[in-house]
Amino acid sequence: MTRTPTIQSSKNRLRLGITSTALFLAVSYILFTAPQKISAHLNHSCFFVAAIVLSYNIAIVLSWVSFGLAFGIMFTILSFFAGLAGALRSGCYEAGYYTWSFVISGLLGYVHWKTVRGIENSFSLTREKLEEDINILSDNCARQKAEIKYLDEKLLRYLVLKDVTEVFTTTLLLEDIAKLIIERAASTIKKRGRILLFLTDLDKQELMLSASHGAVKIKGKKGDIFDRWTMKHGIPLVVDDAASDFRFSGSGAEDPKAGFKSLIVAPLLSGNKVIGVLRMDDDAEGTFTQDDLRLLDIIGNLGAVAIQNALLYSWVEELAIRDSLTGLFVRRHFMKRFQEEVRRSERKRSELSLLMLDIDKFKWYNDKYGHATGDIVLKTIASTINGVLHMGDMAARYGGEEIAILLAGADRKKAVTVAESIRKKIEARAITVRRQMHNVTVSIGVSTYPKDGIHEEELVKSADERLYRAKSDGRNKTCAE
Ligand code: GH3
Ligand code: MG
Ligand code: MG
Repeated sequence: MTRTPTIQSSKNRLRLGITSTALFLAVSYILFTAPQKISAHLNHSCFFVAAIVLSYNIAIVLSWVSFGLAFGIMFTILSFFAGLAGALRSGCYEAGYYTWSFVISGLLGYVHWKTVRGIENSFSLTREKLEEDINILSDNCARQKAEIKYLDEKLLRYLVLKDVTEVFTTTLLLEDIAKLIIERAASTIKKRGRILLFLTDLDKQELMLSASHGAVKIKGKKGDIFDRWTMKHGIPLVVDDAASDFRFSGSGAEDPKAGFKSLIVAPLLSGNKVIGVLRMDDDAEGTFTQDDLRLLDIIGNLGAVAIQNALLYSWVEELAIRDSLTGLFVRRHFMKRFQEEVRRSERKRSELSLLMLDIDKFKWYNDKYGHATGDIVLKTIASTINGVLHMGDMAARYGGEEIAILLAGADRKKAVTVAESIRKKIEARAITVRRQMHNVTVSIGVSTYPKDGIHEEELVKSADERLYRAKSDGRNKTCAE
């Protein structure tokens, strides 16, 4: 915008310069070639002299206006001498006096040049100052824009933090928390692609897929090299192009079927333990930014706390229902579940069996080898029972060394088969006590719903009676009648 007047004025100056030069040359040509002929006819006409003098004056002034100082002086001097020479050649000496007017025109031209230069200088000074001010303002503007962006991001992060924290406190179930982490990651980082949450099996030190989001198939349920890298180092990872990242050469990401090219992974930290990794990937290169990774990391951190709480809760819950010595359920929990199962069998008109198991001559082990050895025997028997039972069955420590076993959906025949299997396995499993092998035996009483009773108390009573019958019949027996 500021360039147009400059171009315009330089064009005007050029035009004036050409005009002044042409005028100067034309007047000089006429003065040096034509004057003899013309003067002869016009007899040194005043009109002719005035025209020549005026033309030179105009050429001088125009040359100052158009060319500036050097040419202005040159045109003034040239005109002065050309005028004098012309006057001498034509013999019109009095006309030579008029050449002094050229000096005046030269001075006028100089004054004009000086004034214009002064104005131009002050203009350029003002323009420079304005440009400086504009630069400072645009710098400030850029800084403020960056600050606004930073504050916006900060605000967003706080909002995410608030929302995620609130949502994560709504449940203590691990499965629900895993789903919430995935959902929140998807709604916060609005990028396409899939999201995977792996939790660490701390005993095996390997990852296990816990929840996922997105249409792409998941090949490895134990994570890949990128997930394991994050698990090992405990720091977030961003990869723009997995196929060309030298850190992970041979990762399999170069395979077009891998399903991803770029990814971000955040560790789920509990203290210095990595309890899982949260991963987002996409089939295009460079999908994720550092900001995306930061958000994923925040969600991962909050998710880790929620997961830790859920694990703690389920651990406490498990503690409340499990017997610390045998790992079997405690009597109170067993009776609650037993009652529920009896109601269910009632509704479904199906059968259900209860086994009451008591270790034979257990007191003898305690008396001979001490209570601690008795504990080992008890633990071994509990683990043998757990090895025989199937999903849906449950065993509980009913009394001191008396174990109750619930077989859902089992009729008497099936119950006896299971009871015999347990009895024989216990008998066959030799327990080493003080370098001596002992084959501990058990006696089992069986009762079945609805034949032996429709209430849990009746079923317990019936199984108990049969257990004592098994004892009185010589032990190491199953009694179901
Ligand atoms: P029986 O064949 O008639 O069942 O003989 P038994 O010696 O096993 O007799 P009983 O079932 O009455 O014995 C129960 C014993 O179990 C008594 C108690 O000292 C022992 N006991 C109960 N709870 C525990 C426990 O937690 N640890 C140990 N070591 N012993 C226990
Ligand atoms: Mg006993
Ligand atoms: Mg007993």
